[in-house]
Amino acid sequence: MLEFDVIVIGAGIAGLAAAERIGEAGRRTCIIEARERIGGRVYTTGSPASVPIELGAEFIHGRPPELWSIVQTTKLRIAEARGVSWCAQDGKLAPCSEFARVGASMNLILEHAPPPDQPDVPFQKLLDVYFAEERFAEMRAAATRYVEGFHAARAERISAQALVRGEAASARTEGGRAFRLLDGYGKVIEHLCARLSGDVRLELCTVVERIYWEQGAVSVCAQRADGTGATFRARACIVTIPLGVLRASPDARGAILFSPDLSEKRAAMLKIEVGQVVRLNLIFRRRWWPEFLRARYDQRKATERMGFLFARDEPFPTWWTQHPAHTPVLVGWAGGSRAERLLASGDVVEQAISSLCRIFGSERREMEALIEEVRWHDWSADPFARGSYSYIGVGGLYAPQALAQPVADTLFFAGEATNTAGHEATVHGALQTGQRAAEEVIAALAKKS
Ligand SMILES: Cc1cc2nc3c(=O)[nH]c(=O)nc-3n(C[C@H](O)[C@H](O)[C@H](O)COP(=O)(O)OP(=O)(O)OC[C@H]3O[C@@H](n4cnc5c(N)ncnc54)[C@H](O)[C@@H]3O)c2cc1C
Repeated sequence: MLEFDVIVIGAGIAGLAAAERIGEAGRRTCIIEARERIGGRVYTTGSPASVPIELGAEFIHGRPPELWSIVQTTKLRIAEARGVSWCAQDGKLAPCSEFARVGASMNLILEHAPPPDQPDVPFQKLLDVYFAEERFAEMRAAATRYVEGFHAARAERISAQALVRGEAASARTEGGRAFRLLDGYGKVIEHLCARLSGDVRLELCTVVERIYWEQGAVSVCAQRADGTGATFRARACIVTIPLGVLRASPDARGAILFSPDLSEKRAAMLKIEVGQVVRLNLIFRRRWWPEFLRARYDQRKATERMGFLFARDEPFPTWWTQHPAHTPVLVGWAGGSRAERLLASGDVVEQAISSLCRIFGSERREMEALIEEVRWHDWSADPFARGSYSYIGVGGLYAPQALAQPVADTLFFAGEATNTAGHEATVHGALQTGQRAAEEVIAALAKKS
């Protein structure tokens, strides 16, 4: 029998941040992680081009203090993503101001969102009621692209009130700016892991299946990779598994059965939605696009500095380079309903390459000859993620609070979907929740001893 003060389930950023703080407080802690690696939805891999390839999170959105303090104390190399945006339309490419257009549209639309003390509505309803006229068609389309692409949401399901809260939270941390870790997001994970005190034990390849609990005692039953079972006991437990896993049916791989059941959490879980994203890396033999664009368009500076590339009608409507880093990598991105369609189609890679050929007007044969490798991770099919990241459904403004609420001072909850400040769906939002849950556990244990 393995005995601890606290068990943390999940070694993503929330779990690691929680364990770091609890270990520092001198509590015997055990992190139990299903996969053979730490980091969860932060997943950096190496590449033939010797540049880090992200399969999960890539950007630091703005300057959230919790994440920036790690970046600064460890002197991680970062670069702001500030390239020129290009748009593809009518078979042509041209520099454009998609971000400004979307920002202005969202501001205007969200002015009509009901205040928190009124009944909530889906974002789509704001478009249908206030912006139905033909003259708003462009604005509607731009805003829908953003809500689906960035929030991985369905416009008819996402809460208008939560979007207002999220935009305000983002504005407070300069969320309009985006930064990349030049040596990969994995460096943040490595740093957190290195800071775990010697009293923190990490159990990899161990899938938690059941949690028996009563006030002040938990018994966690798990299965190791070799098929053997293991039981861990502790006075408290922090659950950081993704919402998609928390909501999975009890017989699904990765799902956790709570006994007694967490019936009081069910309503909250159902008011938060699991968003889908497809993020795909095309790793080329060389960085061919500046030369390609220069040969066709008289935009020398803009071709060299291409950052984002928008192609609204494509299955992959958003692409980006790693500007200002000169790497031979293009990332394709689809969110919301387009991601769902791509995932259902079963030919994600094929559609990515065809999209890019249409955008650049290239022959498929030429494009394929340039590609060294295609790399992506299907988060929807991953049993330990079951989706990309959460968004708040209609009427769910306070659902993250309810989900985050400790049970009997014994079960605690962290992970991006439990962020109550409007930073759900992000790395920094998840980090905050890990730190918050750690403080809750430390206070609860202090009360008992
Ligand atoms: C494609 C993609 C792109 C993204 N891009 C960005 C971005 O650019 N910027 C940004 O800020 N955010 C981004 N995000 C979101 C961000 O990655 C997440 O919000 C954040 O990493 C979540 O951290 P977490 O600790 O809450 O969950 P996770 O990282 O998912 O950690 C949960 C852990 O629990 C483990 N687990 C699950 N079930 C069990 C079980 N039964 N037993 C034991 N362990 C279990 C999992 O294996 C996992 O390691 C992106 C996400 C995706 C998928």
